Amino acid sequence: MRLSRYFLPVLKETPSEAQIVSHRYMLRAGMIKQASAGIYSWLPLGFKVLRKIENIIHEEQARAGHIPMLMPTIQSAELWRESGRYDAYGAEMLRITDRHEREMLYTPTAEELITDIFRANVSSYRDLPLTMYQIQWKFRDEIRPRFGVMRGREFYMKDGYNFDLTKEDALHAYNRHLVSYLRTYERMGLQAIPMRADSGPIGGDDTHEFLVLAETGESEVFYDSEITELKFGDRAIDYDSVEQCQAVLEEFTSRYARTDETHDEALFNQIPEERRRTARGIEVGQIFYFGTKYSDAMGATVSDKDGNQVPVHMGSHGIGVSRLLGAIIEASHDDKGIIWPEGVTPFHCGIVNLKTGDAEADAACEKIHAALIAQGLDPLYDDTNERAGAKFATMDLIGLPWRITVGPRGLKNGVVELTSRRSGESEELPPEAAVAKIAAIYGVA
Ligand code: ATP
Ligand code: MG
Repeated sequence: MRLSRYFLPVLKETPSEAQIVSHRYMLRAGMIKQASAGIYSWLPLGFKVLRKIENIIHEEQARAGHIPMLMPTIQSAELWRESGRYDAYGAEMLRITDRHEREMLYTPTAEELITDIFRANVSSYRDLPLTMYQIQWKFRDEIRPRFGVMRGREFYMKDGYNFDLTKEDALHAYNRHLVSYLRTYERMGLQAIPMRADSGPIGGDDTHEFLVLAETGESEVFYDSEITELKFGDRAIDYDSVEQCQAVLEEFTSRYARTDETHDEALFNQIPEERRRTARGIEVGQIFYFGTKYSDAMGATVSDKDGNQVPVHMGSHGIGVSRLLGAIIEASHDDKGIIWPEGVTPFHCGIVNLKTGDAEADAACEKIHAALIAQGLDPLYDDTNERAGAKFATMDLIGLPWRITVGPRGLKNGVVELTSRRSGESEELPPEAAVAKIAAIYGVA
């Protein structure tokens, strides 16, 4: 992509309404624009990262055997009356009346609708287990929308729902989600720690929240520092294996890690003092097992092996897709701007032409640009007439992990400069070698 043809409305000044760094950088880098309180347009650069995050989630859900689908954002109040949540949800639910005076609502989550789909179509234990999910916009009329996409009113969420015959099967589904979430967040360059949490309006017994440690996080968290040393990495996991999933759950949840809602001072004090940590965290996901809460209320039963009608055991599992952009930036930035992890970067690398208009520099940039695209990569080529300093500032702000700088002086010696955004280190090498190196970094060579 040539910057001269792209839409990247970067801001020089720091917007005064933004209190935290991720919000500031998302506005300054031209990723989002507020449409009204807590509601944003996703400009091209922000949209690209949103799509990358979404794709990682789809890939990891597929790996776990979960089935994608899509449900509407506007739903009828009727179903929510069946579960009792129409009244219980309170002012956070955006209620809408259509022209026929029917009560509708903008979905804050979708347990009722998926349970309705299930009960209309599944009647036998033979069709279980079943896990379906969607990535869809949600609306919660938050009393204090703030921090940009972190606490929006309209936000993008992955929500998945499992249906199982027994509690044991449903707990396996819970564990399977925990495993797949660990992988998902790590692929985005994040450490998200599963912490015991309170179940809130979803209801249920078992629940873990995934928290990214960050000073600006809204939750207070307490944990054993050993937990931050755990890495899921590239383990081969059989998601159908009860033992394997259970073992991962035990490994990642046996050390103390809780939010303030479930914090237990006495238990916490049993950890050796030097390992006790109090910090702040950003909730980027949550998994629940809630048994037969919705299936009882809405009559979602199946016949078991003996022909008896039994309510299905369910759980739901959410990831804050749009919030993740903020969380990643909070976890990965410096005073010049964002530093995208390679897994979610909007463009794989930037190309800076130090002297646009110089025939040799232009030709070299065009060639590098084309070579990267030929490798299946997605570069952003700054072909504008801006000064070099301004081009560097923009590249640093938008946070592409790699930059190739091309200028007449280097070309005389047959080299360009390859710079890592994270370390700031540069090396000079021939253009073809720079392209090969980028291709190797992204595993496409
Ligand atoms: P919170 O405690 O932050 O209000 P929640 O526990 O009510 O969130 P869930 O129902 O667990 O939210 O939703 C799943 C995920 O959606 C959360 O883990 C979070 O990452 C994200 N999320 C929830 N509310 C918002 C919001 N207002 N803006 C952006 N993301 C949100
Ligand atoms: Mg939650």
